[in-house]
Amino acid sequence: MANSKQYDNASSSSSTTTNTSSRPLLRTCLDSLCNLCGPIDSTEYLDAPFRPRNSGEYYIDTHNDESWSFSFGTGEERGIWMNSGDQAGSIMATLVWLLMSYSAVTVTLLTVTKGLPPILGMIYTYLCAMALACHAKTSLTDPGSVPRCAVPMEEQRRESPSHSMCGQCQTFKPPMSHHCRICNRCVSRMDHHCPWMNNCVGAANLKHFILFLIYTWTCAAYSLTLFGWNYFFCASDNCMFNKLVIHLVRPMTFLCIGAFLFTSSMLMNVTYGIMTGIGTIDRLKKKATNTMSQSDEEPIALKDVFGIAGLHTWPFPIDPLFDDYDRVMGYSTPQRLLREQQFIERANSGSGGLPGGERGGSSSRWSDHV
Ligand SMILES: [Zn+2]
Ligand SMILES: [Zn+2]
Repeated sequence: MANSKQYDNASSSSSTTTNTSSRPLLRTCLDSLCNLCGPIDSTEYLDAPFRPRNSGEYYIDTHNDESWSFSFGTGEERGIWMNSGDQAGSIMATLVWLLMSYSAVTVTLLTVTKGLPPILGMIYTYLCAMALACHAKTSLTDPGSVPRCAVPMEEQRRESPSHSMCGQCQTFKPPMSHHCRICNRCVSRMDHHCPWMNNCVGAANLKHFILFLIYTWTCAAYSLTLFGWNYFFCASDNCMFNKLVIHLVRPMTFLCIGAFLFTSSMLMNVTYGIMTGIGTIDRLKKKATNTMSQSDEEPIALKDVFGIAGLHTWPFPIDPLFDDYDRVMGYSTPQRLLREQQFIERANSGSGGLPGGERGGSSSRWSDHV
């Protein structure tokens, strides 16, 4: 009980550290936390001898054992992730859709009025549609919120006896995660909360955010090239813009210049974050305390952003499949640890009868419920 009390006290501040080295304490925490996620016997997974997976042994296991409901929000009980509590963010995200649609309509009108070849207009509309699809995916994807039953991974427990807790969420706080006051959740590998997306950018939706930036940047560069070419090189009536549509083109030019500059800076920001392993929030904190030079973060592997499902999935806003979901998110759940233990035991037995998966080589989705 004393250990349990220590755990409770430690979690009362915003971000505190608690000692979870002793097994009885961890078992107490697990037993209480597991009740939130469903019945599970923590003894089974704690007492099992743990062997880390060898390289090539992996499976996809993103199932959090949470019941699903048709409801919108950022709470753990909500089935569909959507940040509806921030009015400014909702307006800014809607504005993105309005401005992108306005630019697509303008370019379409230019093709209809014979100011542009139809194929060039179709390319722009496709880029716009992809940017908006990525925007919707970024906004409506859980950025990596930490569930109440989150526990440190086996590796983290062996490396360090103490772990941070979030005072607001009352959960284990994974390394590199931050508590977002707008989403009111802790988010794994949180980069920043983006009002234009009306969502946090974290480990699970960074791919969609990067794709949105790339498609928007390409849209802006593409339309500026078209307008520039028309302005400087068009000398005949065949390529002149319609006199009415030109009133839409002028504001769009300023819009594209702004979008080009903004997405360029954001792309450089995100690229720097991936190359250094330091997200936007961490970078600002380190700069404020002048500790940038003391950073020992590792660069983020591209497979931890875009997944391992193959290069053909990278340009599309589909959820990435990670080879080790727990490692990417920075936490595990008792259920997933137990499933991993079973995975390894079956791999050790050499029966080859892994549930729903294959050993090594190809990735496999294993979402068996324990
Ligand atoms: Zn939190
Ligand atoms: Zn947020």
